[in-house]
Amino acid sequence: MSHVFHRHTKHSYPTAMRGEGVYLFDDKGKKYLDGSGGAAVSCLGHGDPDVIEAIKAQAESLAYAHTSFFTSEPAEQLADKLVAASDGDFERVYFVSGGSEAVEAALKLARQYFLEKGESTRRRFIARRQSYHGNTLGALATGGNQWRKEPFAPLMVETSLISPCYAYRGQQDGESAFEYGQRVANELEEELLRVGPETVIAFVAEPVVGATLGAVPPVEGYFKRIREICDTYGILLILDEVMCGMGRTGSVFAYKQEGIRPDIVTIAKGLGAGYQPIGAMLCSAEIYAAIEAGTGFFQHGHTYVGHPTACAAANVVVDKLTTGLAARSADMGQKLNAALKASFGQHPNIGDIRGRGLFQGLEIVEDRDTKSPFAPELAINAKIKKAAFANGLGCYPMGGTVDGRIGDHVLLAPPFILTDEHITEITDKLGATF
Ligand code: PMP
Repeated sequence: MSHVFHRHTKHSYPTAMRGEGVYLFDDKGKKYLDGSGGAAVSCLGHGDPDVIEAIKAQAESLAYAHTSFFTSEPAEQLADKLVAASDGDFERVYFVSGGSEAVEAALKLARQYFLEKGESTRRRFIARRQSYHGNTLGALATGGNQWRKEPFAPLMVETSLISPCYAYRGQQDGESAFEYGQRVANELEEELLRVGPETVIAFVAEPVVGATLGAVPPVEGYFKRIREICDTYGILLILDEVMCGMGRTGSVFAYKQEGIRPDIVTIAKGLGAGYQPIGAMLCSAEIYAAIEAGTGFFQHGHTYVGHPTACAAANVVVDKLTTGLAARSADMGQKLNAALKASFGQHPNIGDIRGRGLFQGLEIVEDRDTKSPFAPELAINAKIKKAAFANGLGCYPMGGTVDGRIGDHVLLAPPFILTDEHITEITDKLGATF
């Protein structure tokens, strides 16, 4: 097959033909266990009959009505369900078509919120190194991947980058995890004081870092201190749950496990579960009022926002998450973590096994004791991806191309329907791969 469409024409990827449960099948009939749900997308697994039925029924009754003329039942229902799933932490939902659009909307809304308050000196975001928030220009600016950003410099959104909360590499000898978390959180305050808090709009971070670090959860107390600093200096806290949200870490919203409430949260991937492209930004009524004030954000929007069939699919996803599937991610995640530790806990090249729910990461090192990474030229993560795929396992290795490169890691984010047998299949296939 010629690869005219495929975005990586230099690779010759197999053609995916069919999905069933946790498996994908290619055009040669080869079966792959979808161990990363694509990129933490397929939370329900493939071929879910309820989602398919909901999409069909919605397409038959109403496929599309432009949101400058109409709202729609599935969009209103989905907004209600997401607000309920946040236990009222948020009061408004703004739909978009994917993760980058959700982050972009959050950045613009945060800026407009302050413009409406007459605080026009606030132009800067503070985010973290080794982060990824999307590929559109604003989202790219807040990410920490220099190699992605450099060709487009200067980016239009001013961003300062501080350290991520990454205990495996950051915590020093003699320092407790809590002390480490406070120390890295305090970098936010230092940066605010350096640039002037009156110039800053918001701090942007992923609660559990996905693609760039490999399922790295924050240490206890880190986000509480971040919240405190945001409140002290009057900046907003934007949490990007595009990858770690929607039950991935064991709760519908990942931030819930930190005992804090962000001002804006972004979700995507798992919301459409791979069935439809959809994302959303959630915020308070007060912040949302900036949209209604209408001097700029009012103009924000995209043709496909709140798409009825996408919302119909997502309604089924949220129903399943809130009636046991997010809890299943927590339970099966513990089992997957234990199985990974049993299989690879002593492996000389696995430095760390961490994660929450069905969002697990393995850090690949040359030397366990010194934690030294493999040389980037070895492209270990690319080799793991290729070998695992040959063994019939989809996983999500990253690292060699990330700015400030400090190693390779493998991200596992399988569908929440996975069973004990699937966990064994994952560890067997990973073992063969390593
Ligand atoms: N934020 C995070 C945390 C992500 O992981 C991603 C995608 N990997 C995005 C934003 C961008 O989402 P999308 O690819 O849907 O635009």
